[in-house]
Amino acid sequence: MNPLLNKLFLYYPATAFTGEFHFLYQGLYRSQQYQSSDGLFRYQLQKFTALLGHAVHHKPYYRRILPADAHLDCSQIHTPEDFQRFYNALPLLTKQDLIGHHQELSGEVHLSSRIKTTGGSTGEPVKLYKNASALARERVATALSYEWAGIQVGAKQARFWGIPHSNRAKFLARITDLVANRYRLSAFDMTDADMAGYYRHLLVVKPAYLYGYVSAIRLFANYIKQTNLAPLPSLKAVITTSEVLSELDRHDIEQGFAVKVFNEYGCGEVGSIAHECEQGALHVMASNLLVQVERDGITYNHGTGEIVLTDLHNYATPLIRYKLGDYATLAPGGCSCGRGLPVLSRVHGRAYDIIHTPEGRSIHPEAIIYIFEKMQEQRAVFKQFQVLQDRLDHLTIRIIPTANFNNAIGRDIQLAVRNKISPTIQITLELVNTIVREKSGKLRVVKRQLTADDNRLPMANTQRS
Ligand SMILES: [Zn+2]
Repeated sequence: MNPLLNKLFLYYPATAFTGEFHFLYQGLYRSQQYQSSDGLFRYQLQKFTALLGHAVHHKPYYRRILPADAHLDCSQIHTPEDFQRFYNALPLLTKQDLIGHHQELSGEVHLSSRIKTTGGSTGEPVKLYKNASALARERVATALSYEWAGIQVGAKQARFWGIPHSNRAKFLARITDLVANRYRLSAFDMTDADMAGYYRHLLVVKPAYLYGYVSAIRLFANYIKQTNLAPLPSLKAVITTSEVLSELDRHDIEQGFAVKVFNEYGCGEVGSIAHECEQGALHVMASNLLVQVERDGITYNHGTGEIVLTDLHNYATPLIRYKLGDYATLAPGGCSCGRGLPVLSRVHGRAYDIIHTPEGRSIHPEAIIYIFEKMQEQRAVFKQFQVLQDRLDHLTIRIIPTANFNNAIGRDIQLAVRNKISPTIQITLELVNTIVREKSGKLRVVKRQLTADDNRLPMANTQRS
């Protein structure tokens, strides 16, 4: 559909019908991206104080764990240093808290709030509510960040995503896709025959941009390049999401589609957290979120640590100092694009993807991904891979091979991984046709799935008799 018609006659009316009034925030957010860090601090402090007041008055969980006048103390704060001290005295909220105290955190929820179910990748679904104005703000911030990629509201999107199973879910997905002007392609079905069909369809659909999982889009980009197809002429940008985008991912995708890649970083609980600008900086959606990093129980507004965030406008299930499980490096704002929004200089991925060795060391997943990327750089030997730690002393490496793959390469991979992790680790190499995605649709390239017995962290200094 024509983007302007879609925007005026479908997208805005449909979202307004559900109580989301985007026009209330568009001007504000547009100007806010260029605000100084001081201006952003004042805005966030005001919104945070109001949210805290609502939480202690209306949500049993916060009433139980916070002082009744916490928001009054917060309203007396004027400097970032004082706020940081105050913020650090508040308890952290973990995913387990959100799962275990979902009702108590939400209390009585307004009818216009919508339920969000997310977190399939951890195996435990997380449930929360989000009020309509918070949803509107989330969508406005996301739409604004798409403008950085040259994509306007209503532009045609081709989306590599999951396809629902049940008829009802399929029908709802079709309606959402129609309203959002999307064409959906299954990220779960990526054989050469599937991709040949996708390419033919996309020539007709003429999407302005591709959106979806890094791994699926890279696979499609490589398919286009290897089969000498022309890049899709309608494309202006590719927006990747949900999985870590490596430099080689970016290179392959930009080669295959001949347009720039813009990475989005987000999560189901709060939506888009950060988005790349024209200069390649991953700017935090600071109009909606207070994002910090935590080290040893203390949160900071700079440096490396586990992401801790507050969703400033979600009054339905308030997330205050919510620990996300992702590690990142946070830098102050200041980018050659002129925006004052803080920058995530690196997103290091999920805590549970770290491999633990029998000797008690922890290996960051990127160290393992690097081995595969290096090998792939010399010669494309696989289409996709997954390293699964299924026992403390055992890894299963799954590879979808290309025609360039041979047994010697398989041995090289095993040797390099063993050198990186531990000489005592056992490895089974499996050549497969597909690698199963998580329920959420994400592909976990380095995955740790130990039995309860193996899941205890080894003690580095304990001698076994
Ligand atoms: Zn920038």
